[in-house]
Amino acid sequence: MTRQRRTDQETAARMMADIEPAYTDQQAQVEADRCLYCFDAPCIMACPTGIDIPAFIKKIAVQNNRGAARTILSSNILGASCARVCPTTVLCEGACVLQDRDQKPIKIGRLQRYATDAVAGKEASLLEKPAAATGKKVAVIGGGPAGLGCAAEMARLGHAVTIFERRPEAGGLNTYGIAYYKLTPEVSLDEVEVVKSLGVEIRCGVEVGVDLPMADLQKDYDAVFLGVGLGHTYTLGIPGEDLPEVMEALAFIEEIHTQPLHEVAVGEHVVVIGCGNTAIDAVTQAKRLGATSATIVYRRGEKDMPAYAYEYEIAKADGCGFVFHAAPVEVLGESSVTGLKVIRTEPDAEGRARPVPGSESVIPCDMVIKALGQEKQVQMLQTLLPDLALDAKGRVVRDEKTGQTSVPGVFAGGDAANGGREVVNAVAEGKKAARGIHAALCGDAVEGPVQHTRVGVPGSKPVGSGLDRPVRVPEAEAEYYAAKGER
Ligand SMILES: Cc1cc2nc3c(=O)[nH]c(=O)nc-3n(C[C@H](O)[C@H](O)[C@H](O)COP(=O)(O)OP(=O)(O)OC[C@H]3O[C@@H](n4cnc5c(N)ncnc54)[C@H](O)[C@@H]3O)c2cc1C
Ligand code: SF4
Repeated sequence: MTRQRRTDQETAARMMADIEPAYTDQQAQVEADRCLYCFDAPCIMACPTGIDIPAFIKKIAVQNNRGAARTILSSNILGASCARVCPTTVLCEGACVLQDRDQKPIKIGRLQRYATDAVAGKEASLLEKPAAATGKKVAVIGGGPAGLGCAAEMARLGHAVTIFERRPEAGGLNTYGIAYYKLTPEVSLDEVEVVKSLGVEIRCGVEVGVDLPMADLQKDYDAVFLGVGLGHTYTLGIPGEDLPEVMEALAFIEEIHTQPLHEVAVGEHVVVIGCGNTAIDAVTQAKRLGATSATIVYRRGEKDMPAYAYEYEIAKADGCGFVFHAAPVEVLGESSVTGLKVIRTEPDAEGRARPVPGSESVIPCDMVIKALGQEKQVQMLQTLLPDLALDAKGRVVRDEKTGQTSVPGVFAGGDAANGGREVVNAVAEGKKAARGIHAALCGDAVEGPVQHTRVGVPGSKPVGSGLDRPVRVPEAEAEYYAAKGER
């Protein structure tokens, strides 16, 4: 037993192909025609970037795919990747009213993919021309979804933007970390090109704090956005952790994104420690790349797992195993991994998983993947900016509406500030911070887009959906009737 290639090119390509294939024209039309185009659409409110979902679905229904894509991309520049990776069942689709009628929600993610695929390579021609140059220069540290969302919006507002990215390519976890069968690096890199086409300069291979002092950025630019994401996976702190076949989940997934799929080496029997969405991505991809068995070990029970229910279903459908109420004690092996010793756990009075003495057992395996969550980059942030306020969990403290941190001229968003959420949250926070920076540099407040068509109450102020103005029909009505003195 050893870590080695376990599949051929054709099988690897088939096993790692899109989990949700693209809609055909006919499938998209049929799905779009099911939408009720709700007046007070809850799907929009559930989207962190406030995409006008019924509007883009209506455009698909009348075969105006360019218009649909424009609606999506003007709210969310990473609309193509979000179409593939968003946990739609807990966001827009989870809010779709069709569920109240015991029907399946509209497949908003797949329709969004259909619309954005239809304009692939021509996105820039759809977007509004940037505003006149303001003469202001803004530096963005980190070319992940938060940095790209911020840079695109700042370029649109007329600022000169440079992204500094330490890796060879931009895109952050979209390029290097998301499960391959959801999002390929090519889609992510296409989106990077769209951001470049807006006039954003991207300097890859530059780590701020190592290759370029932070002080230089603060001196040479009018504002700085921190979109540095999170750091390494937490360590286990158990004997055997240094054996060569013990890997971080992110390192394993990065190999999948940077090597030909069939050349990625996996164990014959793989154990993944942890039960969040990253653990599920690691265990399913290990199985799809040829492991005979791939098993999750989790110290709590099935109902406690942080992974989304639909992710759990994917792993079960792939034949992955689950060992609940077991904590790792030691990785066994002399020069290579032969097994994982675990101890059974039981919840104590506070619900914490406590080891049961004498209940150790061994799970034979030849590869162990650690998926225990990512550390905050506290040391790096404190070295870059000693005055930057971090909260007790190591997250960058910032104003949620503007992204302003405790350091004047420095703004933040994405995983580094929210502690690790989704791609769509990072894009939305980057965009909000861009508006915060714009207001600080030019004094202009930018809001919207506001969907006036769904204001609904004659004479009321424009209240609509969007990044920062969700539809609140009851409030709009109350305002209208109060103004008329009727209620
Ligand atoms: C394994 C995994 C799977 C995931 N799957 C999903 C999913 O299916 N759906 C979903 O919506 N979300 C998913 N997420 C979460 C999502 O990827 C993140 O929320 C999102 O990428 C955060 O964007 P960000 O820009 O804040 O950080 P990142 O994507 O981490 O980008 C930060 C960037 O900053 C760069 N950087 C850091 N420090 C410096 C420096 N000093 N100088 C220059 N550059 C620097 C990094 O190299 C990186 O490119 C997943 C996360 C993981 C770990
Ligand atoms: S909630 Fe569902 S039916 Fe209503 S507009 Fe949104 S997608 Fe269409």
